[in-house]
Amino acid sequence: MTMTDRQARDLPLDAHMHTDLSPDSNVPIDAYAATALEHGIAEIAITDHVDFEPGAPAFAYSTFADRERVVRDAAERWGPQGVAIRFGVELTYDRSWEADIRAHLVGHAYDFTIGSVHDRVSSPYSPSRVAGWIAGRSLAEVVAPSFDEVTAAARSGLFDAIGHIDGVKRYVYPHIRPEAFEAAPDLYEPILRALVESGTALEVNTSGLRYTIGVTFPHPAIVTRFHELGGRALTIGSDAHRATHANWGLDDGYAIATTAGFTDLTFRRGPGTDRVSVSLPVPLAHSNPDGSGSRMVRS
Ligand SMILES: [Zn+2]
Ligand SMILES: [Zn+2]
Repeated sequence: MTMTDRQARDLPLDAHMHTDLSPDSNVPIDAYAATALEHGIAEIAITDHVDFEPGAPAFAYSTFADRERVVRDAAERWGPQGVAIRFGVELTYDRSWEADIRAHLVGHAYDFTIGSVHDRVSSPYSPSRVAGWIAGRSLAEVVAPSFDEVTAAARSGLFDAIGHIDGVKRYVYPHIRPEAFEAAPDLYEPILRALVESGTALEVNTSGLRYTIGVTFPHPAIVTRFHELGGRALTIGSDAHRATHANWGLDDGYAIATTAGFTDLTFRRGPGTDRVSVSLPVPLAHSNPDGSGSRMVRS
């Protein structure tokens, strides 16, 4: 497999991408726009990191004014060519700085907001600590510091979407494999119910498909369960941090959404505007009327 053959083609939206205004990306915004134009990705959300924890990589890394100017300028240049670019943000969530996030969002207008739980400066999931944290603990105990924050992020009502709800899978890998998470769906119920009750969108994040772990965040059964619980707001993002990762694995994300019963994505295109529905493409091959059998669904 080459580095480019899982970059998606002809899809309406990639709702999660990082430019060089994030500390962990080196991609100028025009590279993403050019790829989207070439590959038929109609709309992209630039969601650079904003962190509130002193010492975190994205803490004060770029200013709101710089991020807004770069994205709005690119949107003006690329829009007429056929690529819509939205000014989004990925805010690292933790209950201990929820008030800071709330204050930030009052004073700074984004088109689309993602709240995500990341590895903290002092987290038990840092590479030097994670094996010790896992030892002697159940999976529920291992994931609690992350999942409890994800649930709180969903309940907060601050965000349009919650990013990579089980990104902790990556932090604990390979000590704990993704199959262990797939065997424990009950662990996800509080998160899914918080999303449904707050109307916050669940994100299907396809970035894991380019890591060794090789799975989406979350895995398909959780997206199906979210729909069963009444969840109707869903987004999909590649979470690209490199030019070659633009729109990576989105085909899989779209197939997971369709198989789970979704017909639309939920997105926002401007501060204070109503949310919009983005229709999922009808699967091309081997689809049954009930939506099963869609192409490229990974187990
Ligand atoms: Zn993230
Ligand atoms: Zn991200």
